[in-house]
Amino acid sequence: MEKVLKLLFLLFIALFLVSCKDEEKPKEESVTTLTLTTKNLTVEEGETKQIEAVAKTNKDEAVAITYAVADPSIASVNNTGKVTGIKAGSTTVTLTANDKTDTCNITVTKEEIVEPPVQPKVTFSVSEVNLDLDANPEYTLKPKLVGDAELLYAIDKPDIISIENNKITALKVGTAVITATYGESTATVTVNVVKQFSVSLGEEEIAEGAEVLAYVNEELALTIVDQTDIGLGVECSSSDKTIATITNKGVIMPLAEGTATITVQSVTTPELVRTFQLVVGYKPLESFTISYPDDMRTSGGPYDVEVQLNPVSAKNDLKYELVEPSAAVSLRPLNGQLTVNTNKGFAKIRAYSQSNPNIEAIAIVEIKLSLSDLINYLNQPLTVAQNVTLVGWQTVQNPPHPVDPMYGSINKYLFDEHRVVYNWMKPGTVGYVEYENGIPNPVMFVVVHDVGGNAQGENAQAISNYCNSSAEVSFHYTVDDTEAWQNIEHGRAAWHAGCGCGSNTYSFLDTGIPYDVTRPRPMIDVSTDNYLLINGQKSLIQVPSAGGRQATKNDFPSIGLMFFERNGNYYTTTLYYNSTYRTISNRGGNDLTVGIESCINRGADLYQTWQRLAKLVANILHQHNLGLDAISQHNNWSGKDCPGTMRRAGYWDHFMGLVEAELLVLQELSDYEITLELVNDADKEYVSSRGRVLKLPNARRTIQYNFKLRKDGVSYSFPLTSTIVAASEIVPAI
Ligand SMILES: [Zn+2]
Repeated sequence: MEKVLKLLFLLFIALFLVSCKDEEKPKEESVTTLTLTTKNLTVEEGETKQIEAVAKTNKDEAVAITYAVADPSIASVNNTGKVTGIKAGSTTVTLTANDKTDTCNITVTKEEIVEPPVQPKVTFSVSEVNLDLDANPEYTLKPKLVGDAELLYAIDKPDIISIENNKITALKVGTAVITATYGESTATVTVNVVKQFSVSLGEEEIAEGAEVLAYVNEELALTIVDQTDIGLGVECSSSDKTIATITNKGVIMPLAEGTATITVQSVTTPELVRTFQLVVGYKPLESFTISYPDDMRTSGGPYDVEVQLNPVSAKNDLKYELVEPSAAVSLRPLNGQLTVNTNKGFAKIRAYSQSNPNIEAIAIVEIKLSLSDLINYLNQPLTVAQNVTLVGWQTVQNPPHPVDPMYGSINKYLFDEHRVVYNWMKPGTVGYVEYENGIPNPVMFVVVHDVGGNAQGENAQAISNYCNSSAEVSFHYTVDDTEAWQNIEHGRAAWHAGCGCGSNTYSFLDTGIPYDVTRPRPMIDVSTDNYLLINGQKSLIQVPSAGGRQATKNDFPSIGLMFFERNGNYYTTTLYYNSTYRTISNRGGNDLTVGIESCINRGADLYQTWQRLAKLVANILHQHNLGLDAISQHNNWSGKDCPGTMRRAGYWDHFMGLVEAELLVLQELSDYEITLELVNDADKEYVSSRGRVLKLPNARRTIQYNFKLRKDGVSYSFPLTSTIVAASEIVPAI
């Protein structure tokens, strides 16, 4: 304020003086004043600010001001006094109003730029480093770092290189990757460590003079690094090629026990050489399996029985033996070749390690019939002729039972088609058993009965109709000498076995005894503590008491119990005591089986009935993929003497042969049309076209016939011979 007052005072004095002067002069002059308020002005680059200044005359008239900048590279000014900063620096603007001038100091400042914070970053000028373990084992990385963080290194394979203070040191041949981490930035460098000359097995380098173990037949591949000879390579050799061979690529094949020196030598730099001892041995045998052709036929071979060793390079000190030698096969132990003779059946082969007999394998080989052997097998070289007692209910109370003569056939196969007449039992009929929960039972067995009625009219049709009436029995089939009749579909229970009527009272029981394919009908007995003995071994099955006393093997059905194979063991069904027949039998006879009633009606061709029965049984077995061991008698399921006529006549085993013949034909000859052709017309008096013996000659008569097969228009004829026994040879009824 003091300064302002002082200024005003001076101004006042000046005005006073001027006015005095003016008073002295008649004409007054115009006086300009320039008032500059902004003496100093600071602007940023690009910024514009106003210089505040006023110019006027003493008569209070405005006077124009002009502006001039001293350094136009620093700032510019326009004609109204607006200053714009151009670049950092100082200059002045001169203001002029008439005869008055003044100066404004201009300072231009730089615009302040705020830099973003620096992110740490690491980079390397190299991405790959090649080191030689011998010549050039070290390398120092020069990381380029921006920002501020801690540099960390990680190595994926620390056995190949190490790093310390940016210095890489090679440790062994291989490739490793270094990852450098700097803040959130990473960079990698791949380091390849080589050696001018190295021989390795897997990850391990083989040292000069080392001992390398190998196994016979187990290939080894060396890794050979030879930097000096790229394109020329190395030469590899074995001192004993009977022990091991080696290719120039370093692939070693050990061949026999022993030691060989392996040499690997550079072609162009022979002083680069590596030798080591290859010690070849066998791996110990751990186990092995025997395999054999699955279609071995009689009169065939020799077949190769092969053994697969585990491990593959195990010592092959195997020996073979036939555990159950039979006439069917002979074994040449040295090479495991099997020569098959003329018998079908099973051969049990054991192979074992000589050095450790506990290591063994057993193969049970099934020998099937060749086509010509099959045809011969079906032939009946000598026909049967026997008077057979027909055991019928009609004569049980009033014996004797009638006796009919029975003549066999010249062939086990009945040269005729399988015929079935359908006579379905209706739901609601007394003997009609519904499916359990609507689901068919598994068909696991066939049950053979005979009707037990010897009256002339009791043929398949009559018995089938009887079943479909109000009888409290039912069965799936009836069969006579002409055809089979079917009442009930397979899988539906029927009332015929006398062991519980379709009530699923059975369970499947694991006996715990390994199944022996050569013994589908094992020997059975009872242990002193009431367990079922199977082939002399104590099973898991407890035998029920026989009507209050401890059971013995005499309490089983005369034909035995039923078994089947499951999970490699013998299985059976629930055992029960049948008080009617005082027999310990199997349950499930009504549920798990197809029941067949065979007709023994007097005057019918009984042998042809049995052949038709055999054909029917074989067809059922074939349909359900069952074997002969699935055939049962009614006797198996309750102890009843059924089929009585066949059992008493002693023809069960003969009948099983007929089934086998029909089954073999279904399995092996189903593609063929089969016919019998008698060579001599005179024999037609004695033998029918079905192979049936029609009458017995006075003396044995040899029949020559052809077993003819026809397929795709081509016929095959197999000559066979069968002898019909003389009338005087007929066996009396038992
Ligand atoms: Zn029966």
